[in-house]
Amino acid sequence: MEVRRLRRVFQVLVLAVLVAVPLYSQNPIEWAPSRIAMGELPPPRVSRVWGDTWSFSFYGFTVTHPLAALEAMLAAKVVYLPLLAAALLPLAITLLLGRVFCSWICPAGFLLELNQRLGSFLSSRGVRLSLRVADYRYHLLGFALLLSFFFATPVVSAFDLPHVLGREIFYVLTYGAPSYGGLLLLTGVVLLEALAARRIWCRSLCPAGGFLSLLGAKRVVRISKRMERCIFCGECNIACPYGLRPVELGIDKDFNDRTCDNCGLCRDACPTGALYYAVRR
Ligand code: SF4
Ligand code: SF4
Repeated sequence: MEVRRLRRVFQVLVLAVLVAVPLYSQNPIEWAPSRIAMGELPPPRVSRVWGDTWSFSFYGFTVTHPLAALEAMLAAKVVYLPLLAAALLPLAITLLLGRVFCSWICPAGFLLELNQRLGSFLSSRGVRLSLRVADYRYHLLGFALLLSFFFATPVVSAFDLPHVLGREIFYVLTYGAPSYGGLLLLTGVVLLEALAARRIWCRSLCPAGGFLSLLGAKRVVRISKRMERCIFCGECNIACPYGLRPVELGIDKDFNDRTCDNCGLCRDACPTGALYYAVRR
């Protein structure tokens, strides 16, 4: 089975939750889908289900992005145990599976994956700018955490693309309009990727993705290769959205293991079944 199909199920489910949460949070007495369709939105109520991929709570069970927990505690300069507890599940998943959040859950990653079609279309019409950007994710992460600490305010959360997307969906479904800042950021990244460089945000700019790359560097599950099956066709290199070189797996160190998010696109593209998910003991 193609891993991409399985990922799509997860990505669509996450998107559905992001839409369902603000709808659920409307005042149930006044709520009616027909009113929402007419643009008349009832006032939100205090809900026991709230949040998005940055932090999510379901009737008291809360999960938090590990970076959200870290930056909140840095900003407040306290160690807050409930926040640490809320980050434990995502932390354990990342330590085991790597930054699968980016490829299996992140709604912005999903949007940008779909956006590649627009990029391909524009490219086929000769509309393409050439832009090469080094990996600045770790620099931006360090800078943002320093700012959070010194200015006592979370910084990454303001620019974290999946969080911004979740927030904008919430604004639209609750207040009837997105925020200008969030809309500008999302549109800018979508256009930049379509016109200039495939997956530039996830590959070079996303501090949260950089943080998960660091956490998942020693992950247990990773893409591996059966050398005897490889015919060195290079299809896996073409499929990799981050420009990694799975063809080098097991040969030399060119493969940037830390950036790999276990998306499985190279595995799906391999015509001989040489690539597979291995469990490192
Ligand atoms: S797609 Fe498969 S066979 Fe082709 S180079 Fe990559 S690992 Fe080897
Ligand atoms: S190497 Fe394969 S699994 Fe890793 S990011 Fe690239 S395509 Fe996805």
